[in-house]
Amino acid sequence: MLSFFGRGSAFSDKNNCAYFKHGDRLVLIDCSATAFNKVKNLSMDGITGIEILVTHTHSDHVNGIAMLIDYMWFVKKVPVTVIAPSEDVKNDLLYLLQRLDGCENDWYTLVTASEFNAPYVKAVIPTTHSQQLEGRCFGYNLDVDGTNVVYTGDSNTIEPFKPYITPGSELYMETSFYRSDVHMHIDDQLSFIKEFVGSGVSVYLMHLDDENNILAKINGTGAKLAPLYTGCGECEVTPDLIYGITDTLYKETCKNDDNDHQLIFGALTELGKNIVGADRASFWKWDKRRHELWTTAATGVDKIIIPDNTGLVGKAITNKGVFVTNDPYSDPDFNSSVDKKTGYVTKSVMVLPVADVNGEYIGAFQLINKLDGGFDIEEDSRKLSLPALILGLALESDTFLDDAHHDRLTKLKNRIGFYSDFSRKYMKYLEADCEKPLSMFICDIDKFKMVNDTYGHNAGDQVLEHAAKLLLGACEENENAYRWGGEEFIILMPDTTLEQAVVKAENLRKEIEASEFPADGVMIHKTMSFGVHTFVKGKTIEENVSMADEHLYTAKETGRNKVVYEGKE
Ligand code: GH3
Ligand code: MG
Ligand code: MG
Repeated sequence: MLSFFGRGSAFSDKNNCAYFKHGDRLVLIDCSATAFNKVKNLSMDGITGIEILVTHTHSDHVNGIAMLIDYMWFVKKVPVTVIAPSEDVKNDLLYLLQRLDGCENDWYTLVTASEFNAPYVKAVIPTTHSQQLEGRCFGYNLDVDGTNVVYTGDSNTIEPFKPYITPGSELYMETSFYRSDVHMHIDDQLSFIKEFVGSGVSVYLMHLDDENNILAKINGTGAKLAPLYTGCGECEVTPDLIYGITDTLYKETCKNDDNDHQLIFGALTELGKNIVGADRASFWKWDKRRHELWTTAATGVDKIIIPDNTGLVGKAITNKGVFVTNDPYSDPDFNSSVDKKTGYVTKSVMVLPVADVNGEYIGAFQLINKLDGGFDIEEDSRKLSLPALILGLALESDTFLDDAHHDRLTKLKNRIGFYSDFSRKYMKYLEADCEKPLSMFICDIDKFKMVNDTYGHNAGDQVLEHAAKLLLGACEENENAYRWGGEEFIILMPDTTLEQAVVKAENLRKEIEASEFPADGVMIHKTMSFGVHTFVKGKTIEENVSMADEHLYTAKETGRNKVVYEGKE
């Protein structure tokens, strides 16, 4: 796979230039002046030489090569070999480079591809471009880590390359949106592109004069824009990157699977990470009731829960503003425990608190280790503003949904939560496996009204809380307890037969009977009645609940504090 420092035409900001590594060699395909700035920032650790495959001697290429020779000679001391595709181009290069200041003959090696005999060059392919470059413009057929790569260079036709494009190849082809005689026009290439993709070729477009328009043209063809290198600090926020993430978000949220918000958090966190070129990103939810901060989506780390007044995330939320440090270890609020546990080294941190529509802070977006050194509070805040805004709104919606599904007093899921779980999880469970039973019981506190009447409403609330705790405590991992209403609760038990559910209900009944309930300063005893039922397939959820309810009614009618089920009163 090639990586591109730029994939634009000579008149764009990021001129075409690709690279790959061959063992300890960094191989560049051309070196435009704009690419030189990026190669300069590249780590040369483990690189013993730079080899530049030249396609033609357009002035922006030659200047970039000269600047790179100069820099490598004086600063990095890495030898540069310039590889010309033919004897003519070699002579042109010698002529041009000799006339530039700061590029002496003995600072580099100039060879033809056949003289150099590089193992990754399979063929040089002459092409047609402008009249002046007739016979002096080339593409390459390469072997990059065992993959057959065809690189067209600047060409006004795909024809000379066709014999080299075999199934499984990667084709990097020049494409222009504006018509000229010297470049391949996108409209003329669309049928070839589809044909190549159809035969198992990966097609990447480069040397683009108008990315957005070309992107619109290749929609549905399977071709992609050439991949940009994003690891040298300046991250390329391309429409391709953003469209890719928003497309996933749109399609996945429309699927209506479990937990849509997690997907939004994950995708937006990934987007923010790419936009600023950070190594890690995580999104934190502020649980104001529990005074906790916890990650709802994290790239590269596990879920973490911390007290809300600790760490750099807590600090940013408390101070109600964006926080940046490029020296976290000297910040007393930095918590280095994750680093200590994992061996990771945090070098820079940025935290953006995110707000709901009323401007109340409800969470934070954290980015770690900007790849080119440090975060810039102004610049990076601007870049992250859109994902941070949407993250805030998604978090608010997630919180609303969560609140709507839970009962505030007992913290159990309520009736809306019950129906939501049922349609999202248990319905599928029932449909998926006809053999597996789903059982439930509905239970109700006996003579609960008396608690209110005797000890007051607060005592009644405490009794409800205590009952909820006992019910939840009895749930296995895949089971759940719901507050059905007033002092009535439901427990749903997948993979449980009627007999097993009855045993469970009976044990719970005894536990409740023996338990002491706090009731506004005094301890009291309460009992509960149970109606147990196993779901009958083909009947609606409401019909099934009312069948369980009938057993509960019988339990009440026949003395309370008992478990009733089909065939047993
Ligand atoms: P039974 O054994 O037949 O179930 O008798 P009961 O007294 O438990 O049933 P009833 O339906 O007559 O009374 C239920 C009471 O529960 C009435 C209502 O005021 C009270 N209640 C419902 N929700 C709450 C609540 O959230 N807090 C308090 N304190 N009381 C509640
Ligand atoms: Mg009751
Ligand atoms: Mg009741």
